[in-house]
Amino acid sequence: MHFDRAAAERGFSSYAPGYWSDQIGLPWDSWQWQLQNRVNSLDALERHLRLSREERSGILLSGNKLAMAITPHFLNLIDRDDPDCPIRRQVIPRIEETVVEDFEMADPCGEDGDMPVPGLVHRYPDRVNFLVTDRCASYCRYCTRSRVVSGAGSQHLETEFEAAFQYLETHKEVRDVLLSGGDPLLFSDAKLERILRRLRSIEHIEFVRIGTRVPIFLPQRITPELCAMLRRFHPLFVSIHSNHPRELTLEVKEALERLADAGIPLGNQSVLLRGVNDDLDVMKVLVQKLLRCRVRPYYLYQMDLILGSSHLRVPVSRGLEIIQGLRGHTTGYAIPTYVIDAPGGGGKIPIHPETVIQRNEERIVVRNYEGKLFEYPAAAGEPSALAGLGESLPFDF
Ligand SMILES: *Cc1c(COP(=O)(O)O)cnc(C)c1O
Repeated sequence: MHFDRAAAERGFSSYAPGYWSDQIGLPWDSWQWQLQNRVNSLDALERHLRLSREERSGILLSGNKLAMAITPHFLNLIDRDDPDCPIRRQVIPRIEETVVEDFEMADPCGEDGDMPVPGLVHRYPDRVNFLVTDRCASYCRYCTRSRVVSGAGSQHLETEFEAAFQYLETHKEVRDVLLSGGDPLLFSDAKLERILRRLRSIEHIEFVRIGTRVPIFLPQRITPELCAMLRRFHPLFVSIHSNHPRELTLEVKEALERLADAGIPLGNQSVLLRGVNDDLDVMKVLVQKLLRCRVRPYYLYQMDLILGSSHLRVPVSRGLEIIQGLRGHTTGYAIPTYVIDAPGGGGKIPIHPETVIQRNEERIVVRNYEGKLFEYPAAAGEPSALAGLGESLPFDF
């Protein structure tokens, strides 16, 4: 059968150009089967794909860095005939991972320095990032936490749950807990429920969210039972992670709908990646498809400066062009905030295409999505707030 890639990217086909899709009789819909049958060795992967030399060497080296693991579901989305397939680039290691630039770091966002308790990152005044596991359904090659995730490297995540709960109990300023890792949705329903119940027993914790790529890598895990459990802990938000429209298959859409039907507001985080989504058309299809899955694009990350990631890095100017190409041209809800998570630990900093052309005591001059300029007068009494940018325009309009 001919595979229409463009149609698959726009629509919600469950047909992928893959390898297992014709094998009737497999327990494909079982998340346990998907996990047990993850592809995690060179031999296993070569049974499904013809690999390049760069990939073969990358896979052999990944065992002592960030392990390789790919769920059958996700592997099935790889286009076997496309060596530059955007799905493939996200999960198959390459030899370029051994090339380390001067500015790259094991802990690019300085998290280890902001952990009052092992596994609990407290950087912002009112919220924490609680790293509950170092395991994921599959491993993204650009993982910001590749220093600890997968257990393959020399550094390990050793979350101290009881100490973390006690920290949260005594730190009344924490009103928002983000469960992350690793991927919290790899825990059993019972284990996740114990964590959520304990958090909910702390009165000043108003808001809980889960950061997960399980709906993309392993949509089978989003069972009705899991959704029924999660909905008892509202207000609970879930942030998923998808980078390319082809990831949003029919199975993924249905999993996201189950979460949304449980009253869980859904956001998406993407990472800007070379050869994956550094393209306006790809990004526009992705964000519009996310809305159709009831997911609000939340952040677009400039890739963190992790070791051995230069082959996936995209210039910031490109990211700004993409945001500029979305704003005004599509639904405002579809547009993520483009952020740099500051190297060294300054937190997430939004970056925007320039729209304020001039700002002085009299007026602010702003540029719209078509490039046209508009003037808004400074209100009386407001001059000091408006002062700041250049006095004169470099051109007439
Ligand atoms: C991203 C992050 C958060 C959550 O930030 P929001 O902007 O509220 O989504 C919290 N703590 C840490 C350490 C983070 O990196």
